[in-house]
Amino acid sequence: MSGVAAALLLLTAISTTAPSEPADLVLVSAKIWTGDRARPEATAMAVRGGRVVAVGGDEEVRAWRGAKTVVLDAKGRRVVPGFIDCHTHMSMGGVNLLAVDLRHTKDPADFTRKLAEFAKTRPAGAWLTDGAWDHQVWANPVLPTRAMLDPATGDRPACLSRTDGHMMVCSSIALKLARISRDTPDPPGGVVVRDSAGDPTGVLKDAAMDLIASARPPRTEAEVEEALSTAVRHAAENGVTSVQDLPGDARDLDAWEKLRAGGKLTVRVSYRPSLSEWEKARDRRAAMKDDEWLSIGGVKGYMDGSLGSGTALFFRPYADDPKTSGVYAAEAIPLEKLEGRVAAADAAGLAVEVHAIGDRANAEILDIYERVAKKNGPKDRRFRVEHAQHLRAEDVPRFAKLGVIASMQPYHAIDDGRWAEKRIGVERCRTTYAFRSLLDSGATVAFGSDWDVAPLSALAGIDAAVNRRTLDGKHPQGWFPEQKISVEEALRAYTANAAFAGFEEKEKGTLAPGKLADFVVLSRDPLTIPVRELDGVRVDRTVVGGRTIYSRAD
Ligand SMILES: [Zn+2]
Repeated sequence: MSGVAAALLLLTAISTTAPSEPADLVLVSAKIWTGDRARPEATAMAVRGGRVVAVGGDEEVRAWRGAKTVVLDAKGRRVVPGFIDCHTHMSMGGVNLLAVDLRHTKDPADFTRKLAEFAKTRPAGAWLTDGAWDHQVWANPVLPTRAMLDPATGDRPACLSRTDGHMMVCSSIALKLARISRDTPDPPGGVVVRDSAGDPTGVLKDAAMDLIASARPPRTEAEVEEALSTAVRHAAENGVTSVQDLPGDARDLDAWEKLRAGGKLTVRVSYRPSLSEWEKARDRRAAMKDDEWLSIGGVKGYMDGSLGSGTALFFRPYADDPKTSGVYAAEAIPLEKLEGRVAAADAAGLAVEVHAIGDRANAEILDIYERVAKKNGPKDRRFRVEHAQHLRAEDVPRFAKLGVIASMQPYHAIDDGRWAEKRIGVERCRTTYAFRSLLDSGATVAFGSDWDVAPLSALAGIDAAVNRRTLDGKHPQGWFPEQKISVEEALRAYTANAAFAGFEEKEKGTLAPGKLADFVVLSRDPLTIPVRELDGVRVDRTVVGGRTIYSRAD
């Protein structure tokens, strides 16, 4: 053994066996997947002051036990770092947990019936919002119309969002209050859908949704706080210990700060305000106290819309609608304006992430990132593309080459996979949710849910990335199975890579001395069970900063 190696060994031994004070918590008899390449597997871990102080075998960690140390016996179960979700809309999610759930309607009649049932529980005149409906799951996928809302909602104005947030359907009363009529022109970046007579059907796409905003009373501060608290509880149940959260309501950040001040946060929040208001984000960040619970992690922009709404931007037209290739998001018109904001935010030290779904949106944001990096000079900037959903084969290697992170949501693959081929044809689907190709090209892939467009469950996301079984059961061997990845790769994308994507790898994402003690105990071991059984793995316990915040009742 060389002298250096001997010294290193001695150092390791000291750091795991010589506690100056006993631990607050000791985890034993666990199968810990640490995510730390220096020590990938362990059976025990000691926690003090909310952080990991030792990772090792049960014997090695025994020395950390004192009279007041809580001992948690994992009984041989798998423990992994707390899941870090790179893409959430927590306030929207919370609002939807408290609102009508139109997610699983069978057809228009079922949609109207469920809405009517919920409407009865709300006071006269109250606005009905959200709903997360998805007409693509109907046997005959027609867009809903105000005619499906009016009989169900009575005198309550209704504007109900599609699950992807890129369109809404409004009742006749809501349209009237917002003064939307046959004479209302389509705003830039938006569409007022009309019937054959030229009258609005009730559906407003993308920027057209803003037309309703002035008529609709804003949520009260208490409502936003209630929504976020509900979302925080939901995160705990799903083993999600950190979120990189995106704007839902204008008062999100105030509400997050209030929850932090009240000691009510059990999920760590890295908030990303809108890129179009990057100056505000910069000033707010300078004024705000960043800590391990709440910070401003960067800013988020938009290139295009969504595949389900037909607004994702492609080079070639949609297969089922040859008149359109999608549209730019309002804030990307003109594109130079978006590029200017990316450059300015980057120069101000804000991490930039931009939503891009269609292949053209992806290619063009990569072009923008490349030019901005050149213009602003080299630094550790970790530009991100949110979704990176449909890529031309030639754009896949550009992520690694430019050091751009692909921040993806694997659950969308098994959801959209039911109908994506119909919309864009089989060729473009080969490099859709191209997890394997991206990893093989050397790119950093970080995962999230896009809750509440998809479930907040990281385990469901891992199952989706590994198996690619579409929700309709039609691809039991996987939809474009050549893009499957391993459980370990998916776990890493949801932990260490997600921390890296958020500039938080020094604090979290792996379980090693010095890291925050955020971890999850699982009911079964995803790393050893047959992958087809991944959908049966549950979160048994969620621990944040050494404190159990969720424990499943058996
Ligand atoms: Zn999103």
